[in-house]
Amino acid sequence: MTPAKTSSRTLLVISAHAGDFVWRASGAIALATSRGERAKVVCLSFGERGESARAWRAGKTLAEIKAIRREEAEQAAARLGAEIDFLDAGDYPLVESPELVDRLVRVYRDLEPDVVLTHPLADPYNGDHPAAARMALQARVLAQAAGYDAPGEPLGAPPVFFFEPHQPEQCGFKPDLLLDITPVFDAKRKAMECLPAQRHMWDYYTDLARRRGVQLRRNAGPNLGLAHDTAAEAYMRLYPQVTDVLS
Ligand SMILES: [Zn+2]
Repeated sequence: MTPAKTSSRTLLVISAHAGDFVWRASGAIALATSRGERAKVVCLSFGERGESARAWRAGKTLAEIKAIRREEAEQAAARLGAEIDFLDAGDYPLVESPELVDRLVRVYRDLEPDVVLTHPLADPYNGDHPAAARMALQARVLAQAAGYDAPGEPLGAPPVFFFEPHQPEQCGFKPDLLLDITPVFDAKRKAMECLPAQRHMWDYYTDLARRRGVQLRRNAGPNLGLAHDTAAEAYMRLYPQVTDVLS
């Protein structure tokens, strides 16, 4: 069920495949919706070829797998109180195209997001992830152009955060933001459990949230004698933070 919107803020998450937003950003999504904000996930593909090995081994057809992954992701989004759209652009490979970028421009113009989450720009294990990030960033820039021919007003400058890739060191991912998702971790776990096609990821991302949670405590202040049952997601900023107060 989508919670009532009590805030004018909007979070946009651009995900290459149907599962990515769940493992890497569902804490941020649940936090936003718990504050009454709007959250929208755009999945460029269903991850039907590259991230659905269990279904292929079970003998499912391509069409069946896409339907399964769509339903799973819809359930996960519903758990998080988020809206979700699928562009069905295909995966392995996810092919960049002006048409796909244009569709994303229209998403930006329509939503006017306050924050954007997407993949990092490097991932030597999965070319679809950086392809999604490049298109997400290109569309953001085009949406800012007054002369770009798409409905709506030119976009402002929503900050962009990269969510954590599966093997961060290989992707040049060094967290510069640890998001405290402790209050919504149960929602994240339940969203992950909506994706039995990738069951092997549930515990991995539960463990990661706890490890990032320990780091969060360590960076928040002295943690000697304090509880360690915090959970966190790590992010990298693409653009400088704009502030008048150093903190
Ligand atoms: Zn993926």
